[in-house]
Amino acid sequence: MTQSIERSLATTPTFSALKCRECGETYDLGAKHVCEECFGPLEVAYDYDAIRRRVTRSTIQAGPLSIWRYKDFLPVSTDSPIDVGTGMTPLVRANRLARQLGLKELYIKNDAVNMPTLSFKDRVVSVALTRAQELGFTTVSCASTGNLANSTAAIAAHAGLDCCVFIPSDLEAGKVLGTLIYNPTLMAVQGNYDQVNRLCSEVANTHGWGFVNINLRPYYSEGSKTLGFEVAEQLGWRLPDHIVAPLASGSLFTKIYKGFQEFVKVGLVDDKPVRFSGAQAEGCSPIAQAFKEGRDFVTPVKPSTIAKSIAIGNPADGIYALDIARKTNGNIEAVTDAEIVAGMKLLAETEGIFTETAGGTTIAVLKKLVEAGKINPDESTVVYITGNGLKTQEAVQGYIGEPFVIEPKLDSFERALERSRTLDRLEWQQVPV
Ligand SMILES: *Cc1c(COP(=O)(O)O)cnc(C)c1O
Ligand SMILES: [Zn+2]
Repeated sequence: MTQSIERSLATTPTFSALKCRECGETYDLGAKHVCEECFGPLEVAYDYDAIRRRVTRSTIQAGPLSIWRYKDFLPVSTDSPIDVGTGMTPLVRANRLARQLGLKELYIKNDAVNMPTLSFKDRVVSVALTRAQELGFTTVSCASTGNLANSTAAIAAHAGLDCCVFIPSDLEAGKVLGTLIYNPTLMAVQGNYDQVNRLCSEVANTHGWGFVNINLRPYYSEGSKTLGFEVAEQLGWRLPDHIVAPLASGSLFTKIYKGFQEFVKVGLVDDKPVRFSGAQAEGCSPIAQAFKEGRDFVTPVKPSTIAKSIAIGNPADGIYALDIARKTNGNIEAVTDAEIVAGMKLLAETEGIFTETAGGTTIAVLKKLVEAGKINPDESTVVYITGNGLKTQEAVQGYIGEPFVIEPKLDSFERALERSRTLDRLEWQQVPV
């Protein structure tokens, strides 16, 4: 009897309610994302005393090699969440890139190799679909800029859930194919992401589906905290001085912040100031523009950039991202499409990491911040690379070399090698900056 009570206490969920970020009103833990009182966004509220009593560095280290090692910080009750090996991606010391930029301690958090669909979205979807099952949904859906559709379709397939996903119709071929292979219903909407999102809000109201980034958004967004937890653990249970991350809706950025704060709150790492800097593409930079103009509101824009995965013109968490960048003494910068391509090439050539356009944006912003003196060379800096370059091949086509086609003969090879040496010296002219 006592034993069974103890056991049930040990697995009692550490999350207790949904809470409005603006007015503090609380709600049951259902599929709901907007406050009825003030229309503010809802967030999951936790019992941090319970987490502190239950979690230590060793209990985490004894957990699975996936985001579920941090399960007590995530809004699911089941003991068997959907675990497709998401998370625990490499934190790489980037010495060659650091030297090129004049930094001393630079790391890449490499979610270009996150499982199963090679972007950080697998983190948020693993959490959202686990919660969707707990809430009884049998069909899951999302409004996506590409990676979220890949992730939702793949993890729904693994979990045996029906899936219908929505994307703008002009996405890269790799993103479309990388969704269709899992055989969901795929709606390619003739419009931009913000129009797709508006349509999905209406569908969510009429069809009773679990939309990972709409009615399940409070649960979904918590998955991004694991990008904060992992970096802290991989740095040897300490926080970095500065992080640079891409901004679309702004959710990922705010949740890395929340992840660091939670680790401090429960005593897993020492508190220290961490500067938060955000990256956008100039062709869709509503948050960067608000930052530059000192506004505390975000004016929506119409996206036009090759960085489609982060092209959200009306970012739901934009004001919270602004607030974090300002209060941590960070920055939000935007870069041109040409700089994004150069950023993709720079990361590939210095570190052997092929990222997509969102990663190119982040590297280009890192470079811009360093050149403007906005990153101190002595700061330990972590750059979040969130997606894989094989999915956005269109972006670099025409800006990289071509193979030397040769005959299977030694002299043909020698002639080509000679030619390659002449070409090497011209290489920088190919960078479209
Ligand atoms: C979705 C996405 C982001 C940003 O997501 P938000 O949480 O909406 O800011 C960043 N990088 C990639 C590759 C993405 O797919
Ligand atoms: Zn409210």
